[in-house]
Amino acid sequence: MAPNHERLRADIVEVGRRLHACGFVASNDGNISVRLDDDCLLTTPTGVSKGFMTPDMMVTTDLTGRKLTGDREASSELLMHLAVYEHRPEINAVVHAHPPTATGFAVAGIPLDKAVLAEVVTTLGSIPIAEYGTPSTHELADAVRQQIKAHDGLLLANHGAVTVAQELFSAYYKMETLEHFARISLVARQLGRERVLSREEVNRLQDLRDRYGIAAPAPLCPPDTDAASSMDCQTVRAPSSLGERLVDPGRLDIPINHGASPVVGDDEEVRLTYGELTALIADAVRQLQ
Ligand SMILES: [Zn+2]
Repeated sequence: MAPNHERLRADIVEVGRRLHACGFVASNDGNISVRLDDDCLLTTPTGVSKGFMTPDMMVTTDLTGRKLTGDREASSELLMHLAVYEHRPEINAVVHAHPPTATGFAVAGIPLDKAVLAEVVTTLGSIPIAEYGTPSTHELADAVRQQIKAHDGLLLANHGAVTVAQELFSAYYKMETLEHFARISLVARQLGRERVLSREEVNRLQDLRDRYGIAAPAPLCPPDTDAASSMDCQTVRAPSSLGERLVDPGRLDIPINHGASPVVGDDEEVRLTYGELTALIADAVRQLQ
């Protein structure tokens, strides 16, 4: 066995352990795969807890899903993984799990596509919901196929979530980000307010993508794009009218305290708007260059 294949088996074991430890999977849920080369995949076996796997349990298949090696059967969701590899040639790792909060959004039919967290807009962009398809069938693979061209993270209606990346740990971290975003969104909704970043701010965050060299699968869609008809861009919901801005236009005039501690109000509360935060990040990047 090639040494890097051996390492990838161990990495899959580790990612499975973390998914289980984080409560992103229960029982035998979830599956992980890695593209080994142009015509071969390494995947988790079906019917085992992803928290207690060993490297020898992994199965290799070709890109049609035919088993090449392994004592066990390949993941039951292999068709979904194959659909990703077919449509995203640059992707080498796929993680599927059922993180409870994100899956709650998938059950409620609520996509994670509002511009509420600067970091998520910059990294994952939007996280839409792929239509329901019976698990382990072509239906689910077809639903994922429609959305995966423009997104690195998807909710699967009434099922779970899937994240993809050029390498395994990045795909796993995207699953962490997706679930963390869902938890924060849930808390904001429970608190009764979900203030959305302005379109102008979203455009600035998109510029940061370019500056940081963040590889996004697709650009953000222009405002008012019909989400259902746009498979080549990411629909991020952000209001363009000033009345709905998160950042009060008057507060943008507050001088930015470059290089020092954040602006602190009389009550010792940190007062840093998203606009200021973005400017600070941009300033830090400039200093690094
Ligand atoms: Zn599943």
